[in-house]
Amino acid sequence: MKYFIRTYGCQMNERDSEALGAALEKAGFIPGTEEDSDLLLFNTCSVRDAAERKAKGKIGYIRKLKQKNPNLIIGVTGCMAQRLGEELLQELPHLDFVLGTGQMQRLVPLVQEIAADRKRRVETEPSAEVLESMGGHDSNPSWHGQIAITRGCNRFCSYCIVPYVRGREISRTKDSIIAEAKELVAKGVKEIMLLGQNVAAYGLNGDTRPPADGHSPFAELLEEMNEIPGLLRIRFTSPYVSYFNDRLIAALKNCSKVCHNVHLPLQSGSDRILKAMNRQYTAESYLAKVAEIRAAIPEVTFSTDVIVGFPGEEESDFLMTREIMNKVGFEQAFVFKYSPRPGAKSALLADSVPDPVKEERNQILLDDLKERIGRKLASLKGETVEVLLEGVSARNAARWSGRTSTSFVVHFEPDEKCAVGTLRKVQITQVNAVSLFGKLLAE
Ligand code: SF4
Repeated sequence: MKYFIRTYGCQMNERDSEALGAALEKAGFIPGTEEDSDLLLFNTCSVRDAAERKAKGKIGYIRKLKQKNPNLIIGVTGCMAQRLGEELLQELPHLDFVLGTGQMQRLVPLVQEIAADRKRRVETEPSAEVLESMGGHDSNPSWHGQIAITRGCNRFCSYCIVPYVRGREISRTKDSIIAEAKELVAKGVKEIMLLGQNVAAYGLNGDTRPPADGHSPFAELLEEMNEIPGLLRIRFTSPYVSYFNDRLIAALKNCSKVCHNVHLPLQSGSDRILKAMNRQYTAESYLAKVAEIRAAIPEVTFSTDVIVGFPGEEESDFLMTREIMNKVGFEQAFVFKYSPRPGAKSALLADSVPDPVKEERNQILLDDLKERIGRKLASLKGETVEVLLEGVSARNAARWSGRTSTSFVVHFEPDEKCAVGTLRKVQITQVNAVSLFGKLLAE
């Protein structure tokens, strides 16, 4: 049987799709296209209304494929599957199954059962078994691999439905993560991204409080990962700021393979809005943490997530967000216009900020970001940086690109020794508003 998986949403979903594909291939399925497959799986996202509408539109559209191939099995998994369950089967009569986020280990048997009896199914009861069953990878991975180290979240930010659709936070064992990392490295992976809704809560066994200073199982995991021979770089996303304690900062500083780029979701610079979001820090404590990390690692770069137009956000709140973003000097930022999600607490609040105002605030932050990035890139001209080679540039086949530990992409002309997944030094010779160009230095 051939299978095809279409993925919506975040890196966690991409990672889940890779593991689901690996489980199917282990059971004898082979990858196909949307047109010629016998199993079509939609791994969906629920974080924004637009993501759900897009997935439903696509699933509705492929109804015609079922008319051509009555044996075709169509399933939905991921956050939308968990959120809507049975409702999806009713809404989409050509759908065969709905598989929740805590039941993904059931994919292969479920498909086999449906192929045998053609009965439609919904399985959304969470199960801890999912945790250790999600370690499969592509048989031929690239230089970059991803490992999910936790599932779920305990933070309950008021705008977010992740704790409801992905369940409470659970961590994998360190041994299974290290074994998976070693397996990836043996297959040629050079950089590993550790994923979790709040990676810094790794190993806290469901404790809902941030760890005390001096204690961080996540830091211990990074230290052990750092010792894996052949692995060149380690990245992670995303840590909740209050969990980024002194122990973790020390690991970031001392582990030579851990990249010096931190994605630290801010969401708002207004304490009043942070409180309404149930984010348990203040603008001041966020800035203090950034200063602490920067003091330990001066070259560190920061990226973030921000929501504009949260219920009740006044112009003055927005200006505080703008100010803190400029103070931190984020090198990258993902700005989202607030939209209420059914099931999340903030959906009970009036969506008070008009769309044009949200759009305007969004644009102001993006313009600030563009200007900041331009200044930052210009400051790198003349510097020599180390990059991990990623291959031919997407926009110019005559050039290659590589990424610094701080996550800047540099384009350059390759030499005969260029190999994907190796570290090389490049001198930055040219800069434009969004890109760095350089000269590859001899080895
Ligand atoms: S930390 Fe907050 S925003 Fe992030 S997944 Fe958990 S509840 Fe959602």
